[in-house]
Amino acid sequence: VSPRPSVLHAFRDSARATPERTALAYFDGRLSYREVDRLSDALAAHLAARGFRPGERLAIVLQNSPHFVLALLATWKAGGIAVPVNPMYKAAECAHILADAEVSALVCADLAWEAYLRETAAGSPVRVVLTARESQFQRRDDARVLPADRPAPPADATDLLAAASGPPAAPTPPAGPEPAPGDPALICYTSGTSGAPKGATNTHGNLVYNAERQRVGHELPAGSTSFALAPLFHITGLVCELSACLAAGGTLALAYRFHPGVVLDAFAEHRPAYTVGPATAFMALLARPEATREHFASFAVISSGGAPLPPALVTAFEERLGPYLHNGYGLTECSAPCASVPPGRRAPVDPASGTLAVGVPGPDTVVRVLDEAGAEVPFGELGEIAVRGPMVVPGYWRRPRESEAALPGGELRTGDVGFMDRQGWLYVVDRKKDMINASGFKVWPREVEDVLYTHPAVREAAVVGVPDAYRGESVKAYVSLRAGHDTAPGDLVAYCAHRLAAYKYPRVVEILPELPKTTSGKILRRELRAAG
Ligand code: ATP
Repeated sequence: VSPRPSVLHAFRDSARATPERTALAYFDGRLSYREVDRLSDALAAHLAARGFRPGERLAIVLQNSPHFVLALLATWKAGGIAVPVNPMYKAAECAHILADAEVSALVCADLAWEAYLRETAAGSPVRVVLTARESQFQRRDDARVLPADRPAPPADATDLLAAASGPPAAPTPPAGPEPAPGDPALICYTSGTSGAPKGATNTHGNLVYNAERQRVGHELPAGSTSFALAPLFHITGLVCELSACLAAGGTLALAYRFHPGVVLDAFAEHRPAYTVGPATAFMALLARPEATREHFASFAVISSGGAPLPPALVTAFEERLGPYLHNGYGLTECSAPCASVPPGRRAPVDPASGTLAVGVPGPDTVVRVLDEAGAEVPFGELGEIAVRGPMVVPGYWRRPRESEAALPGGELRTGDVGFMDRQGWLYVVDRKKDMINASGFKVWPREVEDVLYTHPAVREAAVVGVPDAYRGESVKAYVSLRAGHDTAPGDLVAYCAHRLAAYKYPRVVEILPELPKTTSGKILRRELRAAG
């Protein structure tokens, strides 16, 4: 892995080496490396001219669009710190992040500005607003993604592409300082599946390490196309797709937000070699009757990451569509992955629990499995997973106490429970806090979910603990069904009772049309638990 100090340096190397190559491909549009470099330079100058200073924060509230990439590079060129924000967040969620990171500039879609961000930003330190017209992201003939009628662009914000294309405001301010590996590059708010989001501060060194590791680790040819299936506002998309691709001079193909039909069309059009997404995205693709092996023929590697991967999905996907789904384990605090399945290898399934291995730790990564006292446990025994390596963040934005608790001595306590086998494969059993305590017996929801996923009618499954006067907690499952399949809750209870110990199988199964998910595709057990 090369010792470049930042993803920005790596991007500039690509722009120098292959200026005419397509950097960004989106629907009908293409931007070369030269154009992306020029547009992001102009945008950085525009920001600086509007008073944006090195070290200040710029929030990017956008789906997967070229504007996201331009805004990110421009922020770094101006010496700033980018704060990616999930554009599906409601006003209060956005307001929390804008205030917590004290952002002074904001890039968003015009519709979001009209709908709620204008109000949200009013009480915050935001001084500079750039908007991007959502219609610019839409394939002209595609009405599936966005409604056709949209309001006019707001008058009190500057159009992002106009700002990047117009003459820079005079006098042109000096470019921002060159980023150093230890400088903060991003404040990335965790997706909040287990509580209020807090901002992990990823440095330039963290990001460039994992971006370069991805390409090398997956043995992807330089210049090949990656498809942004994971959202770019999430660390997985930002590092494994956007940064890894631009650092290696590849083409990043974008399709705005996830829609399985649009994604299949984009695979056929752009012929990508690599993509990564959460397991739920692959469930959705598998469920499309029009999906064929031909759609996946161009891929060298497909990774599933950021959320549990049921072994039954790996088998079903490979049988019908061809690719083997490579598992990968990561967290926002690890700047995306810290363990993955090496190319040409298949992750083993632990015979005792049925858990699929998440991968092996990368070359510079030390993963330990610890007991309650912080001592390492023997191979095969459960404990909390702890990670140390060049991708681990130094801490959370302005939260010294939480940083010290989560990263004692610089080693990340992940909050995930798992084990390591003698061959070095890592297994993630579940989140520590999701454990169900049924009459003193530990039940890990994942194990029960993996069994439910082997049932032919089950599309999605989530298992939670619900209060039980006798047992303290009891096991409840929520499932959604595959189209054209039908089954009764009682049948699913009986199915699990046949395959799991008496204290583990769900006593109640509730069937829902769809399970609640974050926009990065993670099933929200927290919401289901609250529903009881
Ligand atoms: P919050 O910290 O607010 O709960 P989050 O944990 O969802 O949000 P992320 O950093 O996006 O934030 O997710 C990391 C978590 O996702 C890991 O701690 C782990 O529980 C889970 N995870 C990631 N990859 C895998 C995998 N391959 N298998 C199982 N679980 C995974």
